[in-house]
Amino acid sequence: MDISKIFDHKKIIFSLEIFPPKKDTPYNVIYNTLLKLRGIPADFISVTYGAGGSKAQRDKTIEIAALILSTYHIEPVAHLTCVNSDKGEVLSALEQLKANQVQNIMVLRGDISPDVPPKEDFRHASDLAAFIKAYDSSFNLLGACYPEVHYQAESMEKDIEHLKIKIENGVTHLITQLFFDNSKFYEFREKAEKAGIHVPIEAGIMPITSLRQIERTVALSGASVPAKLSRLFSRYGENPKALFDAGIYYATEQIIDLIDHDVRGIHLYTMNNVETATRVSDAIQNILEAENTPTNAA
Ligand code: FAD
Repeated sequence: MDISKIFDHKKIIFSLEIFPPKKDTPYNVIYNTLLKLRGIPADFISVTYGAGGSKAQRDKTIEIAALILSTYHIEPVAHLTCVNSDKGEVLSALEQLKANQVQNIMVLRGDISPDVPPKEDFRHASDLAAFIKAYDSSFNLLGACYPEVHYQAESMEKDIEHLKIKIENGVTHLITQLFFDNSKFYEFREKAEKAGIHVPIEAGIMPITSLRQIERTVALSGASVPAKLSRLFSRYGENPKALFDAGIYYATEQIIDLIDHDVRGIHLYTMNNVETATRVSDAIQNILEAENTPTNAA
């Protein structure tokens, strides 16, 4: 199913993101994770694509996306990066996706590794979007966006200009990079709307539940850390259980504020952590249900 249609009847959607098992993780771990995640009422589950873009990574993402659909009957979104792929490789991924009825693709450029020179067929995610739409327009495309600006962009304005090309080339729905400061999202959304971007923008939220995770996440995403989050980490840094609760509290509060500001979707970066995903989901399900129930007002 084309998930952009969900926005026709839902005010706010809720989705989860998982990643395929890493090399040293037994493969069946992901089956157990999915078995538990299926209890969460998610509109879709997206499956990331390992950096580097090898065929083995592509196969894993597609296999897991296909399983989400066939076994759990939840709509999957398969991430697909292009910077290390040529047209032939992308075509073979599209054929695999079609054969497995996976209709939604998150089109991404991928990070450029200093050790792997990029291939030349696709320079930006927007090139991948155009290529996929020309191959088969029934694929529904999602794209990434950056409330705190992509690290290679000259400015927010330029980044938004480039985002517009992604949408012109077929992307119907955006998901943000994770952020901890909602004001960054509101500023970005306002600028994007002023620039003529009107597709739904889902907010990417990652609950931070350990000290290791915050260091790694901030280093990788460049997200700014508000004083309130830092304070929670200083206060509970020595107590893993209290820190876990504080991380869930922060993410939940962030989400409720976003809902109060009419966000169109919450995309939870689960990091394959079922407990985190369940706790956050439980805390907001009644709110999501209330928001998505049409009122009887005349
Ligand atoms: P692009 O949209 O191509 O943008 C990259 C840079 O190029 C930006 O600075 C942009 O301003 C500029 N640009 C874009 N188009 C043009 C143009 N036409 N002309 C000039 N400049 C242009 N990585 C993975 O490896 N696997 C994943 O599964 C994955 N999932 C992600 C999911 C989300 C929601 C997000 C936010 C990121 C994800 N990433 C993933 C990371 C992503 O691959 C990196 O952030 C990457 O550096 C940029 O990818 P992009 O698709 O946003 O690129």
